[in-house]
Amino acid sequence: MKNFYDFAISDWQQWVRDQQLPAYRAAQIYQWSTRGITTAEEMTNISKDLRGRLEKEFVFGGLELVNKLISQIDGTTKYIFRLHDGNIIESVLMKYKHGYSVCLSSQAGCKMGCTFCASTGAGFGRDLTAGEMLAQVSVIGRDCGQRIGHVVIMGIGEPLDNYDNLVKFLRMINDPAGLNVSLRHISVSTCGLVPDMLKFTDEGLPVTLSVSLHAPDQQIREKLMPIARVYPYEELLAACRNHIEKTGRRISFEYTMFRGVNDQPEHARKLARQLSRMLCHVNLIAANELESGGYKSSDKKTMQKFMQILMQSGINATIRRELGSDIMAACGQLRRSLEECGKQ
Ligand code: SF4
Repeated sequence: MKNFYDFAISDWQQWVRDQQLPAYRAAQIYQWSTRGITTAEEMTNISKDLRGRLEKEFVFGGLELVNKLISQIDGTTKYIFRLHDGNIIESVLMKYKHGYSVCLSSQAGCKMGCTFCASTGAGFGRDLTAGEMLAQVSVIGRDCGQRIGHVVIMGIGEPLDNYDNLVKFLRMINDPAGLNVSLRHISVSTCGLVPDMLKFTDEGLPVTLSVSLHAPDQQIREKLMPIARVYPYEELLAACRNHIEKTGRRISFEYTMFRGVNDQPEHARKLARQLSRMLCHVNLIAANELESGGYKSSDKKTMQKFMQILMQSGINATIRRELGSDIMAACGQLRRSLEECGKQ
């Protein structure tokens, strides 16, 4: 079955022509994809007959809410959805001063094998379609009753490993007649798939590219992220420089801090040398110890010192505020616990 949320306005225009319906029906149907509906029944301005036709041909998002966890600390909400084929994904709703943001999954599982990540342990299910990504934003927006103005694609999966669907999703979510989220309010993360980064740069989409670096050199990166053996540190930084040069946009580097692994002052000095004169920002993140891999998080003092060294070397850096720490907001954890229980 096709997914209702995979259809852009042009697809609906074609569909209504094929169904020999009046042209205005296309926009009428399409607007429902911004409202987080999960059945055709909810389309109150559509005739019963047409709703029946839609119901026969489409799944409506295909996201069944399995669990919803709300942080008692800051209201961060984690949604666990089961896709129509049984795969489990997670999305997180966060509230910031500037509004509501959704962190969404781009794949069910992940092939990248980062040694600190719970998504790896759960294995790889499949790529999500553009519509399944869009539905996460739309359904969550409806659930919380708020406009979602920011999106980060940093949940389960490597977005650039699902390239075509990612680009389709970005164009769809930016559609003024759709959810109309500004591309400038969207961050796309990558663990460093260099050829796809180069291609993505050339798409000219003004999103923020967020590179999961996590190490000051090749040796440490290889231990944490097997992908570094395929695309070495230097090649990755060259792709980042290319992105900055061609787009004029600042790159965001994610740096999760693991005690005794990548958090020492010499690591900070090395990182500062690697990133010197780059238009970038480094986000220092405390590791989530509930994840697998047995890594411990650096303490606050170590993180502060690390940040100071970067700043003194002229590198913009901040320590990311931890959100939803009581609901295991880090990627993959809940999905794995559900899958280990045999897809409850
Ligand atoms: S950290 Fe990201 S890229 Fe690495 S295994 Fe986890 S989901 Fe995949």
